[in-house]
Order: sequence, then structure tokens, then C-alpha cells
Amino acid sequence: PHALQNKYSIATMGADGIGPEVVDASVQVMKKLVELDGSFELAFENFDWSSDTYKKTGKYIPDGGLDALKKHDAILFGAVGAPDVPDHISLWGLRLAICQPFQQYANVRPTKIFRGTSSPLRKAEHGDLDWVIIRENSEGEYAGQGGRSHRGQPWETATEVAIFSRHGVERIMRFAFESAQKRPRKLLTVVTKSNAQRNGMVLWDEVAAEVAKEFPDVKWDKMLVDAMTCRMVLDPKSLDTIVATNLHADILSDLAAALAGSIGIAPTSNLDPTRQNPSMFEPIHGSAFDITGKGVANPVATFWTAAEMLTWLGEEEAAKKMMEAVEAVTERGITTRDLGGSAGTKEVTDAVCQELEKVY
Ligand code: ATP
Ligand code: MG
Repeated sequence: PHALQNKYSIATMGADGIGPEVVDASVQVMKKLVELDGSFELAFENFDWSSDTYKKTGKYIPDGGLDALKKHDAILFGAVGAPDVPDHISLWGLRLAICQPFQQYANVRPTKIFRGTSSPLRKAEHGDLDWVIIRENSEGEYAGQGGRSHRGQPWETATEVAIFSRHGVERIMRFAFESAQKRPRKLLTVVTKSNAQRNGMVLWDEVAAEVAKEFPDVKWDKMLVDAMTCRMVLDPKSLDTIVATNLHADILSDLAAALAGSIGIAPTSNLDPTRQNPSMFEPIHGSAFDITGKGVANPVATFWTAAEMLTWLGEEEAAKKMMEAVEAVTERGITTRDLGGSAGTKEVTDAVCQELEKVY
């Protein structure tokens, strides 16, 4: 909404651990891309919100922070989480504190096997695994509803209530069918657990059947989440676009990332499909404090993340060129340790910039 023609303002927020390292690498690549492409512009503003800010001020987001963030067209996020802050505090303090008010109800996670890299699925090759997982990102099992009573007593109980509204299920289902329709295979798998969870999950099944009528060209099927994990391993080629609840898709997408070869290549987008608020783009990996500051973090997940962001902003051609360059680099074996190589973050980043010159 704020973009002049082909000029986009991007908020960058590396946050914790390796987050700033991979976000900086991606900004370097995007600057090169803009320079070579010439048909669009990007303006970056960095936000230094992190677990360090939280430890100093008691807040992840300063007063008025969300208003400042909202002025941007998109947010490129690194990772949040620190060893000395409980995960539920950091997650709700920063990531979900942006996702929720900005109504980023669709979480999209593409997965594929890059050329030159190998998957633990012994026979799988590049092209055998090319999925988009769509995760409901606003309600379900992570709605934050529930509570604890009789704390510390032997009869203590805790309830974790999953919320599924018809409005929420319809909008994610419609988004999933639209996403499937845009891909060549037009294939959607709706994942539930409606045999055991007989309220919310049955609503999912019903809404899926209703929305499917609006998309006669999309071929779709239903899977129970447990059987789905087997199918992802045993028959990856039979899947294309996948939609599941907040919890189920969280789990399936980690499986997907591992099957693709490394968590260091997988991106995700938190989208507000109404485009009233900026959407947020991030690698799926965490802050990885074990490798922070060593210069070995794989920046590929964040490169792919940046490409997804550019596609969302309408610069699909430039995004494709960026991915061509990234994959040419993996194909030449210039990869970080998690993908079996020995290159560092900087080597991979520089190689992608050089490769971009060839692509243009
Ligand atoms: P979080 O709770 O934030 O998800 P986590 O500890 O569960 O954090 P990660 O931080 O993603 O998960 O780290 C999991 C493992 O994967 C670690 O050993 C980490 O070093 C490795 N890892 C994560 N991201 C990358 C990356 N970009 N490049 C290389 N290795 C990575
Ligand atoms: Mg984790």
C-alpha cells in the first residue's frame, strides 16, 4: 500500500543469534540484485529489536514500535530466541507480537531439494520434492487459550484449548486452494486429524469440501496427519501444496525441511493476504547460538526468504533470477557445513553475488 511504483521499503530485523548474520548477507545479495536489474528499488530500514533489548528494557518492542513497522511494505526477519530467555517469552514477545496484530494468518513454507545437494531420502533427487506447506497462523492449537489450576497440587490440571472459527478456517482454506491453483500441478492435500479430534478437525473437513467447489480445476485429497508423515517420506512426489493447522503444519514443515537436506535452506512467509498490513518473511531455522559469530551459518534459507518476499511484492522475475544464482552456487558445491560443504557465510554470499552477474 505504501509503495511508489516499483519502490519498496523493507524493514529488516535480524534479532538474535545468527539472525543478523543471515539477514545482512541477504541485504547484500538484494542490493546487488537491484543494481543489476534496475527495474525496481529497495529501501532498507533496520530495527534492532532482540532478546538483548528485552533483557535491558523488559520489552522486545518499544512503545510505538508497531506503528513504525507498519509503514513498511514487508519485513525481513532473522530469528528470535536466546539461551537465557524462556522460548515462550521470546516467541510471544517478538514474533507472534508482530504476526498477530498484522493479521498474518497464512504461513507459507516452500520446500525443495536444491541442485547439487542430497536428501536423506536415498533415491530422491532435485525435482522429486517440491512442496508448499500452508500453515494456519492465527488460531488453532496456538491460540493461547486455556490455563492452569491447582498449581503444584497432585490434582493440578492444565488446558490448552484449540480454537477454530469458521471465518479462520474458510480464509486459510481459500488461500490454500488459490495457492494450489497457481502452481503447475494444481494439487492440494488437506491435512487434519478428524478421526480423533471431532470438533475443530471435522469443521476443517467440511469447510474444505465447501471451498473446493469454488476451485473445480484443483485436484484435492484429505490426509490424517499421522499417515501424512509416512507419505511425505515414502511418496514425496505425490504431494504438491499442503494445508494444515498451526500445530500440524509446524511439525510437518520441520519434517519437510529435514527431508530437503537441511534446516539451513528453508524459508517461510507470514502473510496478510488482504495486504492491509506488511507481511513478514523469515528463515524457518532458529537463532542457532551454537554457531553464532563463527561465520558458518548457511544464508541460503534467508536468500530464498528474500526471494519469496520479492515475489510477494510483485518482483517475480528478479526473485527467479536470485534463486537461479543461489542454485547455481549450490550446484557448484559452494555450500556451508550443514549441506556437506566447507564454505562460510561470506563465501556463499559472495558467490551468489558473482553468479548474479552471470544470470543478468
Ligand atoms: P529455535 O527454538 O529458535 O527454533 P533451535 O535451537 O530449536 O532454536 P535452531 O536454532 O534452528 O533450532 O538450531 C537447530 C540446529 O540447526 C543447530 O545445531 C543449528 O546450529 C543448526 N542450524 C540452524 N540454522 C542453521 C543455518 N542457517 N546454518 C547452519 N546450521 C543451522
Ligand atoms: Mg526450534
